[in-house]
Amino acid sequence: MSVSDILKQKAEAGQNVLTEYESKELLKDIGIPIPEQKLTQSKEETINAAEGIGYPVVMKLMAEDIVHKSDTGAVKLNLGSKEEVEKAYDELMEIPSKEEKQISVQGMAKEPIAELIIGMTTDPQFGPALMFGIGGILVELLEDVSFRIAPITEYDAKEMIHEIKGFPLLDGFRGKPKANIDAIVDVLMKISEFVMEHQEVYEMDLNPVFIYEDGIVCVDARIILKSEQESD
Ligand code: ADP
Ligand code: MG
Repeated sequence: MSVSDILKQKAEAGQNVLTEYESKELLKDIGIPIPEQKLTQSKEETINAAEGIGYPVVMKLMAEDIVHKSDTGAVKLNLGSKEEVEKAYDELMEIPSKEEKQISVQGMAKEPIAELIIGMTTDPQFGPALMFGIGGILVELLEDVSFRIAPITEYDAKEMIHEIKGFPLLDGFRGKPKANIDAIVDVLMKISEFVMEHQEVYEMDLNPVFIYEDGIVCVDARIILKSEQESD
């Protein structure tokens, strides 16, 4: 699905929160790498999707009323066989949700050097602002994040990455390989360009983004559009 299809579909449905699946389709369309993903509605479709993507896969329940998926058991990681997919499917179907149940079957990304958080929030005074941090305890406990008002330059993006206290984790910490900083810069630039072109976007939360020596992949995302009142 293209960005304009997704945004049009949401506007027509009067919804302003994109599911993880929709958020990541949008990211893919603007050139940000995501694991291969398929949306399914039955056990058979889910198995076919898993076999098409190739094991191991991840399965997640998609519904607008499930926000923190892992808290409700809606994320099943590292499924290595048809049997595991069937069992995960049955378990996901037991999770209470008002919405029609759909499953996102996706490729299981390999373990990264670090998990990043990349986001956009709308400041009432300055408009869209970009956010960067390293996930987990660093963001939750130490609030180790950097911000810039959009649009940003490549120089700004590099500064955002280098100025966080956790930067050494990306720079070959304890014998780990160095993270691909250019790939992070590229994602920040693409989000900056996207939000400048699409003022109807209110918030973006890419959490986590897996960073490697040779690339980057966003494994979870949530995009919120402005509601009618806010976009005037
Ligand atoms: P939540 O809604 O709880 O934030 P996530 O989609 O972020 O759920 O999944 C929880 C965690 O599972 C992520 O932080 C990440 O570590 C891992 N994860 C999610 N999707 C994938 C994937 N496709 N490949 C590898 N790990 C994943
Ligand atoms: Mg997440």
